Amino acid sequence: MPYEPVIGLEVHAELATQSKMFCACAVVDNTVAAPNSAVCPVCAGMPGTLPVVNQRAVEMGIRVALALGCTVNPVSVFARKNYFYPDLPKGYQISQYEQPLAEHGQLVIQTSAGERTIRIRRVHLEEDTGKLTHIEGGSLLDLNRAGVPLLEIVSEPDIRSAEEAVAYGEALRHILRYLEVNSGNMEKGVIRFEANVSVRLVGTEEMGTRTEVKNLNSFRALERATLYEIKRQSKILEEGGTVEQETLGWDDIKEVTYSQRSKEDAHDYRYFPEPDLPPLKVDKSWLTRVRAELPELPRAKMERFVTSYKLPEKDAARLVEEKATADYFEQAVNRKSETVNPKSIANWILGELFGLMKTRGESLSQLKVRPEALAELVELVAGGKINQTTGREVLAEMSESGKSAGEIVAAKGLKQVSDSGFIAEIVRQTLEECPGEVTSFRSGKETVLNWLFGQVMKKAAGKANPQVVREELAKQLKGS
Ligand code: ADP
Ligand code: MG
Ligand code: ZN
Repeated sequence: MPYEPVIGLEVHAELATQSKMFCACAVVDNTVAAPNSAVCPVCAGMPGTLPVVNQRAVEMGIRVALALGCTVNPVSVFARKNYFYPDLPKGYQISQYEQPLAEHGQLVIQTSAGERTIRIRRVHLEEDTGKLTHIEGGSLLDLNRAGVPLLEIVSEPDIRSAEEAVAYGEALRHILRYLEVNSGNMEKGVIRFEANVSVRLVGTEEMGTRTEVKNLNSFRALERATLYEIKRQSKILEEGGTVEQETLGWDDIKEVTYSQRSKEDAHDYRYFPEPDLPPLKVDKSWLTRVRAELPELPRAKMERFVTSYKLPEKDAARLVEEKATADYFEQAVNRKSETVNPKSIANWILGELFGLMKTRGESLSQLKVRPEALAELVELVAGGKINQTTGREVLAEMSESGKSAGEIVAAKGLKQVSDSGFIAEIVRQTLEECPGEVTSFRSGKETVLNWLFGQVMKKAAGKANPQVVREELAKQLKGS
């Protein structure tokens, strides 16, 4: 029987503030900072301390909420979520429960089957926990992360495949980076996913029992874990069994989910309003200001690139993923006052430049090739001054030395030769040297043509204009 997955994602994103959510401790990079080097009595959960809300974190939360089209509540309430675990010094986490920061948004995602709209249920503020490291004979506790501001973004169960789950996660990550509220650095654990997965018979409305896979730290883990759960649950139902509602972990090595605990219900957390914090008020003028400061978001940018620059949607979508790439593209296209062919610029960025970034291990901003310099190179190729292959070599050289395309072409004598007299002469020489191939071409073996073309290009040290060479070859082969 065909089963259909129903998925809702909970995403935890650390907010890139200077200080923690409820105290003045610095937010530090845990991959470099010494353990417990950014801790005070508040985030260590000492009795008698009082939390103070980080206004910047609230503002970042509002930015995200507005970008996702949510309604920001004029009053939201912090609540204590009580549970006991050694990484939670207070014995409760300050979160938001019945009255979250914002609700009812949506995120449009791009999938292989087209566009899909995933509704957002809620966006709320909370604090991160500390970090436990288990060693032989005990566990080590690092509280640097305790109290770091977290934004939890919860979707409605609108996601229908592992592919959509990943597309949703990626789209969200791009937005967080555009809004400059999160580095998007997955290796550092600044974005974590929880996948709620159930399956149901295709055509039925009612949702099945779900499991919740915790702490997925990469898109790969999100995809694999979701696929695994869909398969596992479908099999149970096919065999007439029932899926148990539980919280699962994901084993990244064995690629299986494993039971962590049977699902806790909200009442197990004994939520109640945080008595040490007043309700959080967000007035209209604050909202208006934050809204006015929102940057153009990836989707709007993509649509603009398609209309203004006549780019195929697929190229535009890739260019806007990172704001730095989109800005680079626009700077290249709008070099000086004239417009360089946008499609060519896009091709060079998405193909050659991305390739260079990978091989050199550099980001776009580290790359020595500035947008204006790329535009110049693209113009040299488009204008037939150098051919595509030479262009690639020149680009590599530009990334090495930081010199301009024009300088490199002049210094190395790479200028493409379109002179028909010169090309006619090397074609003539080549045909003379390869009588066998010429004969077999004339007796109908047309594939030889490409080989002959290669010989001519080699003779011209790659500098001959390929278009002119092809025409001349055809002419001489047909002629004499
Ligand atoms: P919690 O996990 O804290 O109990 P909720 O019950 O609100 O919170 O659900 C959390 C997530 O689970 C949401 O993203 C929601 O869309 C998703 N979800 C709820 N029920 C199902 C279901 N039957 N199948 C798949 N996802 C579900
Ligand atoms: Mg949950
Ligand atoms: Zn602190």
